[in-house]
Amino acid sequence: MKNAVEVHGPTAPRVPLVLDSPHSGFVFPADMRAAVGEFDLRDGEDCFIDELYRPATERGVALIAAQFPRTYIDPNRHSRDIDLDLLEGGRWPHEHVPSGKAELGKALIWRTLDDGRAIYARRLSVAETEARIANYHAPYQRTLQQWIAATHERFGASFHINCHSMNAVAGTQGEGGAGSERADFVLGDRDGTTCAPGFTAFVQEVLTGMGYRVKINDPYKGVELVRAFSNPAQGRHSLQLEINKRLYMNEATRSKHDGFEGLQKNLLALVDAVLVYTASELRRA
Ligand SMILES: [Zn+2]
Repeated sequence: MKNAVEVHGPTAPRVPLVLDSPHSGFVFPADMRAAVGEFDLRDGEDCFIDELYRPATERGVALIAAQFPRTYIDPNRHSRDIDLDLLEGGRWPHEHVPSGKAELGKALIWRTLDDGRAIYARRLSVAETEARIANYHAPYQRTLQQWIAATHERFGASFHINCHSMNAVAGTQGEGGAGSERADFVLGDRDGTTCAPGFTAFVQEVLTGMGYRVKINDPYKGVELVRAFSNPAQGRHSLQLEINKRLYMNEATRSKHDGFEGLQKNLLALVDAVLVYTASELRRA
């Protein structure tokens, strides 16, 4: 893989909005040595999410996209959220910051797939884990952090949408319980702590106006990337946006369906509306 992270769009902030897609990469590093095949490993992928938002770059919005798969290492986790059950000897020599996701097999490096199957027939060494963090996870988080900081520096505020998609129905280890059906969109602001409540409400209103069913913080509240670099009191706003895969793809074959283009247009309309909103928020400040 050439780069762990790609930034689509401008080379410096032109608008107060930043998008990032941490889970749409699918270039598998050769040293992954998983026990399950790539098709199954891509079950953890937010397929086509970078492509769905790509037209936003024509509006001057930067889109940061991971190139590596989420099942190799998850950029949407704290770098010290180590699953000790996946580690040789079960001991981590650095700080340990467990989020509770290890119990679902979905800490920094996933141990199991959504259906509970083990991803590896081995444990990972500390050196291997450290290398995945240094070469993939750290560059991703650093790139996003720098873009948010540069945007805030230029405009006095930053608005960040963390872009994801979700399976239509939860797997046995999925959030919300097995078999639960998802809404069209789920907005996550970690119970109102990662952005101004008005930003969440605005995005909800725009999507509801397009006819979508939208839920907030149920079952996805947002994880590390909306937490780490946000501070609403200082004008740094981060919101997670989960799109139901059934709106744009066939989950069984992992191909786009007829809904893709319409959704892509609606997401561009959402970005346009958000740019109007952010401009008025900056005038108010
Ligand atoms: Zn995701």
